[in-house]
Amino acid sequence: MTKDKSLQKLQYEDILNNLRMYSSRQIAYKDIYLKNKEDYSLPFESYVIHHKDRDEDNNGINNLDIITRDEHEQIHGFGLGGKKELCEFKKSWWYC
Ligand SMILES: [Zn+2]
Repeated sequence: MTKDKSLQKLQYEDILNNLRMYSSRQIAYKDIYLKNKEDYSLPFESYVIHHKDRDEDNNGINNLDIITRDEHEQIHGFGLGGKKELCEFKKSWWYC
């Protein structure tokens, strides 16, 4: 019984996480990707959504970045806010 309960809780959390991810992706797709298509050379499925303030529930379009997995790792690895900061950070030795 206890086991089932914790399993249920786990599944519930999974569903919530998926819903969260789904809604941030939906918003990013509709309000950012489609409106700035020329900025994105890859299909939307290739990108991940980054929350600049690290708050996964904050889906304001100013808080979302559509970036590649590599960029996402770099942003978190370097402790940067988002894509804009990553560009500035890399500017001296990379193109953005
Ligand atoms: Zn992120």
